[in-house]
Amino acid sequence: MDIRFLGGAREIGRSALVVDDRLLLDFGMDSGNPPSFPIADVDPEAVVVSHGHLDHVGSIPSLLSGEARPPVHWTPPTRDLTMLLARDTLKLHGGTYDCPFTEAELARLTQVSETHGYRESFEAAGYEITFFDAGHVPGSAHVLIDDGDTRLLYTGDFHTEDQRLLSGTTARPDADVVICESTYADTTREPRPEIERAFVDLLERTIWEGGTVVVPAFAIGRTQEVLCICERYDLECYVDGMGTRVAELLLREPNREFLRDSDLLRRAKGNARFVDGRDGQRERVAEQNTVIVTTSGMLHGGPAMTYVPAVRDHPANTIAMTGYQVEGTPGRDLLETGSAEIDGRMMRVSARVEQFDFSAHADSEGLRSFLESYRESTVLINHGDRCETFADELRSGGYDASAPELGERLEVG
Ligand SMILES: [Zn+2]
Repeated sequence: MDIRFLGGAREIGRSALVVDDRLLLDFGMDSGNPPSFPIADVDPEAVVVSHGHLDHVGSIPSLLSGEARPPVHWTPPTRDLTMLLARDTLKLHGGTYDCPFTEAELARLTQVSETHGYRESFEAAGYEITFFDAGHVPGSAHVLIDDGDTRLLYTGDFHTEDQRLLSGTTARPDADVVICESTYADTTREPRPEIERAFVDLLERTIWEGGTVVVPAFAIGRTQEVLCICERYDLECYVDGMGTRVAELLLREPNREFLRDSDLLRRAKGNARFVDGRDGQRERVAEQNTVIVTTSGMLHGGPAMTYVPAVRDHPANTIAMTGYQVEGTPGRDLLETGSAEIDGRMMRVSARVEQFDFSAHADSEGLRSFLESYRESTVLINHGDRCETFADELRSGGYDASAPELGERLEVG
C-alpha cells in the first residue's frame, strides 16, 4: 500500500490522503485567511470521508469538475453536514478563490453520494472499507481500509470520552498501519463532568445575578452539546446561527440513530428558543436575563457579532467560550487582553469572559489509551501542530511511529 499526504500532515486543516493513487481519504480546506487547499489535484476512483468538518470535507465538491464522477462514501450525517457547509461556503465566497467549487459541482454531489452505517463493510476502488464510530461529531468515523493484504486504519478525528451528544469511541479494529490524529497530544483535560459542572455554575450564577450569558459555540456538535447541557440543568436558553440548522438536520432519520440519545437532543431543541434575527430580535434577546448559544465559536462572524457588543458593557454579563481559540481570532484576543475586534470594530469588554474546554478530540491520555491497542502496528501521526514531537515520544515508548510531512509518499504494509 502506498500513501500520499496531500494535507493535514504536520498541520491542522485541509486533511487529504491518497492510497495507491486510487482511493482518496478526506478532501478538506483550511478556512484561514487566506484559505488553503490540499496541495495537489487528484483523480481518484473513489472517495471516503471521515466526518463533516470543513477541514475534512471543504474541497470535496471540486472533485466533480469536468467528467470525473468518483463515488463519495460517508455516513448519512457526514453527507448532510458536508452539503450544509458547502452551501454556506458558496453563499459566502462563491465565485472567489475562497470557494474551490461551483454550484453545478455541488449539485453533482447528491448523484455520487453513497451512505453507509457503522460496521457495514462496503467496496470502494477495490478495497474493503468499514466505518467505526469515532465519537467526535455525529456521523464521524474511523475508516478501516483492507486490500486483502494490509489493513490500514485512518482514525479521522476522534474522542475517547463520552459527551452528552455522543459516546466516546470504543472501536479498536485490528490494523497493520494506523494514521492517527494528534490535535491535543499536548493537553491533559479535566474529566468532562467537572468541566460541565463549572460551566453550569457560571451560567446559573450569571442568571441569578440578573445578567445575560452569551455562549459562542461551533455550529457542528458544540451548539447541540450546549443545548443538551441546558436541557439537563433546566436552563432557559436561546439558540442562533448555523447550529440551529445542524440540530434540525441531526434529528432527521436516519441521522438521529447516530446520536447517543436522540430523545435528549429532541428535548434540548424543544427547551431552546430559536432566533432568526428578524426585526431587531437579537437586540431584544440580548437584554434578557437568559443564556444565548450562538455561532461563531471563535467570534469571527455569525450572530455573535450582534450579541457580544450588546452584552459587553455590563460586568454582570458573561461570555462563556466553549472551545479552543486559534491564535489571531477575536475569541483568543478577548481571552488574553479583554478586548477584541468584533465585526470590524475594536472593543473593550467589561463582561466576564471565561473559557471551557468542551473539545471533541481525545486529549494526550485519550490518544495514548487508544494507541495502546496498536503497539504492534506502524503508527503515522498527522493532524496536529506538534506531530513530530508526539511521534518521537511514542517512539521512545517502543512504538514504530513517525510523522510524515506534507507531500510525502510512503510505502506501508
Ligand atoms: Zn473534526
